[in-house]
Amino acid sequence: MNLAEGCPAHCQYCYLAGSLQGPPVVRAYANLPQMLQNTAQYEQAGKLTTFEVSCYTDVLGIEHLTGSLAECIRYFGTREGAQLRFVTKYDQVESLLDLPHNGQVRARISLNAEPVTRRLEGGTASLEARLQALRQLALPPEQGGGGYRVGAVVAPIMPIPDWRDHYRHLLDRLAATLDFDCDLTAEFISHRFTPGSKDVLQQWYPNMSLDLDESTRAQKRNKFGGVKYVYQPEDMRTLKQFFYQEWQQRFPHAPVLYWT
Ligand code: SF4
Repeated sequence: MNLAEGCPAHCQYCYLAGSLQGPPVVRAYANLPQMLQNTAQYEQAGKLTTFEVSCYTDVLGIEHLTGSLAECIRYFGTREGAQLRFVTKYDQVESLLDLPHNGQVRARISLNAEPVTRRLEGGTASLEARLQALRQLALPPEQGGGGYRVGAVVAPIMPIPDWRDHYRHLLDRLAATLDFDCDLTAEFISHRFTPGSKDVLQQWYPNMSLDLDESTRAQKRNKFGGVKYVYQPEDMRTLKQFFYQEWQQRFPHAPVLYWT
């Protein structure tokens, strides 16, 4: 479900560049009550349906203007057959901490190695601020937190120089930040781009330092014939193995939902 399309952050690798048409502005949808009402038709008896609201925007980045995320959290907190999940690179979580989510919401924070966040994520909260926001979301209410189920989305993973050290350091910082029991999941997404997104990103950020060299990548086709450039299979295997191993060492009880 899209609460908005477009994002106020300026990540130089942003996948929205290839998926949204037109100028890079944010369009927030005002018919939220109607959208929430519509979700009921997708719920199925005896099954849990999860609604994702972060595919085309950073919902927390615009929350101070829309209040839409809080409205969704309140709504899904009342549903038995449906859950909500969102992901953000922002840190202003205070307004979410007291909401009646009833354990029906997974709040995820998007993280990356410090050199990637510093170099390529223009308008987002700092890595440390995001880690602290995740802690606030996960801490139980009696300790001043939101008591949310939480998640770490490590994306987009890039084999930058000394990548093992940088990503180990990130996971160490995450483990130090979440030094209490919480319901945590992980998602790992390697960097990819399409011919369309490369074209748009190079227009938006002509001086960017992001590696978009097709000749070093493998091609992946989707079911509609579109092409994505991903890392070579051997590099993917190395990266995947590294992340699963390092994650399990630090967070043995937190499932990895997927690698892509
Ligand atoms: S925060 Fe996400 S949606 Fe926003 S610019 Fe960065 S990658 Fe794109």
